Amino acid sequence: MKIKKIETFSNQYLSFVKLTTDRGDVGWGQMSTYHADITTQIFHRQVAPYSIGLKLQEQPNFADHLQLIIEKEHKFPGSYLLRAIAGLDTALWDLYGRLLEKPVASLIGGKPGKVKIYGSSMRRDISPQDESLRLCKLRDELGISAFKFRVGAECGRDKDEWEGRSEDIVKVLAKDLGADVQRLVDGNSCFSPEKAIALGNYMQDYGVSHFEEPCPYWEHNQTKLVKDALDIDVAGGEQDCDMSTWKSTLEKKVVDIVQPDVMYMGGIYRTLKVASMANEIGLPCTPHAANLSLVTICTKHLLTAIPNAGKYLEFSIEDETYYPWQKDIFNGNPFEVIDGFVEVTTDPGWGVEINLDWLENSDYRVTEIN
Ligand SMILES: [Mg+2]
Repeated sequence: MKIKKIETFSNQYLSFVKLTTDRGDVGWGQMSTYHADITTQIFHRQVAPYSIGLKLQEQPNFADHLQLIIEKEHKFPGSYLLRAIAGLDTALWDLYGRLLEKPVASLIGGKPGKVKIYGSSMRRDISPQDESLRLCKLRDELGISAFKFRVGAECGRDKDEWEGRSEDIVKVLAKDLGADVQRLVDGNSCFSPEKAIALGNYMQDYGVSHFEEPCPYWEHNQTKLVKDALDIDVAGGEQDCDMSTWKSTLEKKVVDIVQPDVMYMGGIYRTLKVASMANEIGLPCTPHAANLSLVTICTKHLLTAIPNAGKYLEFSIEDETYYPWQKDIFNGNPFEVIDGFVEVTTDPGWGVEINLDWLENSDYRVTEIN
């Protein structure tokens, strides 16, 4: 069995990959979101040429092929190549899932079942009162019992989105959501260690349990200062996709919770590797999954398979009114939340079908065997 055809369906935000074998089997994957049209060019130039004609074994065993692409393209380390490789990795997992009639979860050591979510707000342009209204509504209607909201400004150099917003939102949500609801915050690289520690102490008093990316994420020593000073869990690593960065931040124990992103990492194999390295030193893994595309589906499967899975799946609460590009990507609703949980079903592969209308309105490219 070998890969005969590699097709992509893309727009500026999203790009899906369809693999077809010489036996007619197919698998669907996705590259990382945003500037996906650029990632698609990289995919057909620097990923697909190595993969067309690739001989596939009966069981999934393609980690070395992904690594070989990285080695062949070793002059291009970094995000874009891995965002493209994620499309190949996730399509191959889906292909094997369909072939072997198993969900990907079962192929990687997990199993179908329920996964607890935390509702993840992406917004800073929202007042503490308005944020409270929508989070309380989700708590009451969907039974979600953990939420993450935003503090500081994104890469804000110690500036808040507006003065006093961070302290206000921590206080308002502590009161409105109640003590039974876990509260997590994300600083998105805003703070110096001094400011992060001061805010961290304030948040500890209000029962916040998770402080994500307090300092510029590339300043590992700053993040570690904050981690060492606070009782609250410091989380991070969502942008990190290079294995040497992961090895070094894990060795230095920069964070309490690691957050690799399946799509930024280059797919499931490399994310499993990070989760496993974290497990060796006793750290939980709560991957980053910040939108309702395939990243959240893949992460759901992954969480069932790792022994150090964090408490919950990141689940964006922003629908298409905030991210119009998320509209009508899949058939049905693969993101249904019941009593604060989503489900990994027994459906083969990722268990999703991409909407034909969406595909027909995308930009099409193909690499195939002549
Ligand atoms: Mg984050």
